[in-house]
Amino acid sequence: PNRYLIDRYIVATRNLPATPLLVLNKIDLDAADTHTLIDELHTIYDALDMQVIETSATHGDGIDSLRDHLDGHTSILVGLSGVGKSSLVNCIIPDVEAKVGAVSSASLEGTHTTTVSTLYAIPSGGRLIDSPGVRDFTPVIRDRHEVRRGFIELSRHLGECRFNDCAHESEPGCAIRKAIEDGEIDSIRLQSYQHMLAELHNCM
Ligand code: GDP
Ligand code: ZN
Repeated sequence: PNRYLIDRYIVATRNLPATPLLVLNKIDLDAADTHTLIDELHTIYDALDMQVIETSATHGDGIDSLRDHLDGHTSILVGLSGVGKSSLVNCIIPDVEAKVGAVSSASLEGTHTTTVSTLYAIPSGGRLIDSPGVRDFTPVIRDRHEVRRGFIELSRHLGECRFNDCAHESEPGCAIRKAIEDGEIDSIRLQSYQHMLAELHNCM
């Protein structure tokens, strides 16, 4: 999973009238570290006041739970090509037969097969938008306030550092590094946060 992309999507949804739901798909993969990784992501994102579910589009695990979460809402599925979005659409709306692209082993990216935008009515309730444009959606982030909305655990501690201009690297009295040591903040989340702020400056 691309952690930075996950964190960008969270920032985007926190600045929209929308609610993020993190779907960890392909839990059936039996690579040695799959379950450790899934458990770790589940724990980190669960603590951020958001819903996390685990699915296998291939074996059907978690699909009922995904349907329950989509019920009563209009949703979009976003994520890198090849993560299983079409396969999940096929599970949720069995008659739809969204084209599933085989992941090419050369690039490890699924081939692009969806070419139209469609609003599907989910038989059990809710609606699902599926479109290539939406899938490639790169959220525009305008300022640091928008970034902070996606990092509630960091926002809680910003302003507690000894120095106003603390870069949370090796400064004494850094509340963010202390929270990382205490296991309250995940260090990769801090990396995402700093990377996003840096991107913001590069654009201005
Ligand atoms: P999309 O590009 O995000 O729409 O991804 P696709 O639905 O086209 O899936 C890409 C590849 O991953 C296909 O070969 C799928 O069969 C496979 N795939 C999708 N979901 C799962 C899953 O839960 N488990 C496994 N093992 N493979 C999956
Ligand atoms: Zn600091």
